[in-house]
Amino acid sequence: MNPFLELGIREEVVKAISEIGFEKPSEIQEKAIPVLLTGSDDFVGLAQTGTGKTAAFGLPLLEQLDFSQRHPQALILCPTRELCLQISKDLEKFAKYMDNVNVVAVYGGANISDQLRQIRRGVQIVVATPGRMLDIIGRNAIDFSSVNYVVLDEADEMLNMGFQEDINNILSETPDTKKTWLFSATMPKEVRRIAQKYMTDPVELTVGTKNTGNANIEHQYFLIKAKDKYAAFKRIVDSNPDIFGIVFCRTKIETQEIAEALIKDGYNADALHGDLSQQQRDKVMKRYRDRSLQMLIATDVAARGIDVNDVTHVINFSLPDEIENYTHRSGRTARAGKTGISISLINIKEQSKIRQLEKVIGKAFERKQVPQGEEVVARQLLTIIDKVNQVEVNDDQMNAFLPAIMEGFESLSKEEIVKRFASLEFNRFLDYYKNAPDLNIEARDISNTRERGERGERGERSERGSRMGSKGYTRLFMNLGAVDEFSRGDMLGFICNNSKISGKSIGKIDMKGVFTFFEVQDEEVNKVFEGFKGVDYNGRQVRIEVSGDGGGSGERSHSGGDRGSRGRSGGFGGERRDRGGFGGERKDRGGFGGERKDRGGFGGERKDRAGFGGERKSRSGDNGGFRDFSGKRSESKSKY
Ligand code: AMP
Repeated sequence: MNPFLELGIREEVVKAISEIGFEKPSEIQEKAIPVLLTGSDDFVGLAQTGTGKTAAFGLPLLEQLDFSQRHPQALILCPTRELCLQISKDLEKFAKYMDNVNVVAVYGGANISDQLRQIRRGVQIVVATPGRMLDIIGRNAIDFSSVNYVVLDEADEMLNMGFQEDINNILSETPDTKKTWLFSATMPKEVRRIAQKYMTDPVELTVGTKNTGNANIEHQYFLIKAKDKYAAFKRIVDSNPDIFGIVFCRTKIETQEIAEALIKDGYNADALHGDLSQQQRDKVMKRYRDRSLQMLIATDVAARGIDVNDVTHVINFSLPDEIENYTHRSGRTARAGKTGISISLINIKEQSKIRQLEKVIGKAFERKQVPQGEEVVARQLLTIIDKVNQVEVNDDQMNAFLPAIMEGFESLSKEEIVKRFASLEFNRFLDYYKNAPDLNIEARDISNTRERGERGERGERSERGSRMGSKGYTRLFMNLGAVDEFSRGDMLGFICNNSKISGKSIGKIDMKGVFTFFEVQDEEVNKVFEGFKGVDYNGRQVRIEVSGDGGGSGERSHSGGDRGSRGRSGGFGGERRDRGGFGGERKDRGGFGGERKDRGGFGGERKDRAGFGGERKSRSGDNGGFRDFSGKRSESKSKY
């Protein structure tokens, strides 16, 4: 028997929810539905967003309201328009096979007359944001005298947003006999106060641990200099090519700046903040939901109620001012039983905040190292190989071009063609990350986190030590690796021949895809640098560097890059580049189960719209992508 039927949900509803993939109840549904179906208790449910709360209260409402009547019997209050629409749509989906169920969504920023008309026509369930609800009550346009159930969804968010008084006023319009069901991700004292004021002996349920984040979220932080934040952020993004993320900033201006910088750098991102009109916000959200956007850059306020599944990463570009907001932010990932990663970019001064956050979420953060340029490059290479393996070939269309393609490549061997195709895209990455500095910094005080417990400050040093080579050896980096068809033996010979040193002077050789680390006895290091001066391999200049060298004055590298400043521009001290080609053109990346929206043909032209009333055009061709972005920003009072 279907477990929802066993819980007491009617067949029509079970049929509808089966169609949208609900096979068995989530934890909150399993616990809350039996309580709420009795209809006789007030209720407090502590549950994160994404745990299935909507059905937890929605299904019992559908069981208990009298749909032969056409007056409001249930009122659901929630903090944002997005959530309001989401809840009403969900309820309509659940009620797909029921007759006469009328739900109205009442929220600000939309035409009030349409909402009034729907109310007049007769509804049983009103889903509302507090401001607009009060407006409608003020017009005497709704009768709440038969409301039996009030649901306060995301109560903590509503209070955070200053809706306390509005909620009080709305609740005073409803009968004393009603039952109140409150859902909240956290239980600050303000929420507790509401529970005490409006409820009688509520049944209290907690899903997961009180006040903690979702267990499926991994919390990570990266310790970096403030000036390197943007560069570090991009490396993290570049080493996660399939990221589908929400990036949180503290202010609207920061949000806008980061989004613009990312767009200029060729990423598929857009901003969501309080300066946008509702229409613009809807557009941005639609593109994000459709997966046409890979990253949404948002303020806390703008992102409230965002309910998108499969968000892989939440990135705290800046930590929130209010510590409670961290839970809300990270709760945007790992929804519906999925896993997710919440990343914080912090500088030395912010380390203590990590400790506070650990207390709030009841879980340790893991410190991660910003990937080195070479690692990012290797990651991108693997992704590209994967993509080539996975790409769908449209034989029908390709066949027409095939003779011309074959003729064009007639004189090249298969290996040559593969190499050239890879180089076409890959040189760009190699170039961009060439001489990219190490962006990690040592923690000043790392005695408090879990990682500290495991590795401690000495552990940190020893890791760095190992990167610098075994005792008596220096660890060097070379920009050639396995993809250059070197075996370890070949590599040893290559190093010895060029440096004119004996194989005995070489320690460990660690060959990666596109680069190699190798150890050389300290006294022989200069010979290696000398020996490789001006050497190139298959047309590429061989580059040797001391591994893990942060670009300080003692840096040695013979290939002459201006390390640390190369590729930098713009206001974030970041590494900018025009990304194009594979791995670069984020615009048409499939792979999120999403449809590819805007594929260009050979050097074809694509267009898509920016969310700020500006229009962007992007051209894909062998020139790489370029974006021209001309957005307007209006002034408004709040910095969020
Ligand atoms: P909610 O917390 O209500 O916003 O739900 C989060 C997501 O989980 C939504 O996309 C729901 O459609 C989905 N969901 C809720 N309950 C279930 C269930 N029992 N089985 C599968 N998915 C669910």
